[in-house]
Amino acid sequence: MASVIKQVEQYIAAHHEEYVERLKAFLRIPSISTAPDAAADTRRAGAWVCELLQGCGVAAELVDTPKHPCVIGDSGPVNGGGPTVLLYGHYDVQPVGALPLWKTPPFEPEVRDGRIYARGAADDKGQVLTHLLALEAWKKVAGRLPVRVKLLIEGEEEIGSVNLEPLVRAQRDRLACDYVALSDTAKLDDDTPAITYGTRGLVYKEIRVYGPSADLHSGSFGGSVANPGNALARILAALKDDRQRVTIPGFYDDVAELGATERKQMDRLPFDEPAYLRSLGSAALVGEAGFSTLQRRWCRPTLDVNGLFGGYMGAGAATLIPAWVGAKVSMRIVPKQNPRKISEAFDAAVRKLAGADVRIEIDTHSLAAPYLCPIDSPGAQAAARAITAGTGRAPAFIREGGTLPILPMFKDILGADSLMIGFALPNCNAHSPNEFFVLEDFYAGIRTSAHFLQTLAEL
Ligand SMILES: [Zn+2]
Repeated sequence: MASVIKQVEQYIAAHHEEYVERLKAFLRIPSISTAPDAAADTRRAGAWVCELLQGCGVAAELVDTPKHPCVIGDSGPVNGGGPTVLLYGHYDVQPVGALPLWKTPPFEPEVRDGRIYARGAADDKGQVLTHLLALEAWKKVAGRLPVRVKLLIEGEEEIGSVNLEPLVRAQRDRLACDYVALSDTAKLDDDTPAITYGTRGLVYKEIRVYGPSADLHSGSFGGSVANPGNALARILAALKDDRQRVTIPGFYDDVAELGATERKQMDRLPFDEPAYLRSLGSAALVGEAGFSTLQRRWCRPTLDVNGLFGGYMGAGAATLIPAWVGAKVSMRIVPKQNPRKISEAFDAAVRKLAGADVRIEIDTHSLAAPYLCPIDSPGAQAAARAITAGTGRAPAFIREGGTLPILPMFKDILGADSLMIGFALPNCNAHSPNEFFVLEDFYAGIRTSAHFLQTLAEL
């Protein structure tokens, strides 16, 4: 067995130049899923993925959704069983933004200083291709894959995966798997590959506070009626205490505390706090008392005002008591917290704080669950061994403060944990001009994916 993976590695090494040309071909397709005229090009990128898979003997087809199709593939059962892995990724890309800011056109990929520049280079075409080319290398060298591999490569990630959940639900049996693996995340830094094993969830609310039926003269009426602006300020200020703890009753009840091992692991990660502060341009780092900056960003729930509006917002002064004001407020929630429960607790707390002298309306814009993959699971350990073999470096286990609703969705519908293996750099300009992917990371990704199939088979 060991010799087969060596041969696969040699095959990959001998095809680096050809792989770059194929990546370029993929990147030339302007599959901007949000563009009004994107249908044909986006579909073409999906068809490109299908053809690559079919070309190496993996069954694949484009499955239509109400918008852009999804590639579903299956390498078929293997002798001796073993776990089945579902590779998830996306072939659609973000819009290009301001063209003059691009050094070379976004859909004319160019290699400069060992990096390939194009829209989608890192997010996510380059990273998707690492897995496809690893499958191909195994097929060419061994004529088979060591484990059963299924694929789900969508064309709507950049528009919020709008049709993915119904599709996964409808195709549940066909997508059945033991693990989901995806590469749409970043390394910890230039030198350290990473497995991202947790994300925070999101509860996004909008509060509107109503007072008088119309704006009032603040001279004639000020001091005699409740001012919605003052009321909103009082409500928002009361939602956090001076230790930066959220005051909503029950807010922390279900929060999963960090275990000692995980805490130690996180404390060992290279993290330059002064440099982090400098990069943000803020006066100071502030957060929940008793936790490190990384813990606050990854493992602790937060509440943030995202926007404030209403009343007089023009130039100069207008003396009025506004009829209404509003705020957008988001809460990032962590494992074991339930978005619906937190949303209801927020509503109750805000209504209580508002009192009876103003009228309150609260809308919910999004509810998304957090996600956590156990890092001692066999799959996570297989991924770590594969990264070590593919890159020569042991991966850092990191979490992500943002929200990826597809992960709890996969867990919920398929019952499978997701392993996020990232090869992009944190500063790869995803969603910005001059997006790039380091070619050495592209090759390391292909090697890692090839090893991953092997380490999974050994479980
Ligand atoms: Zn992406």
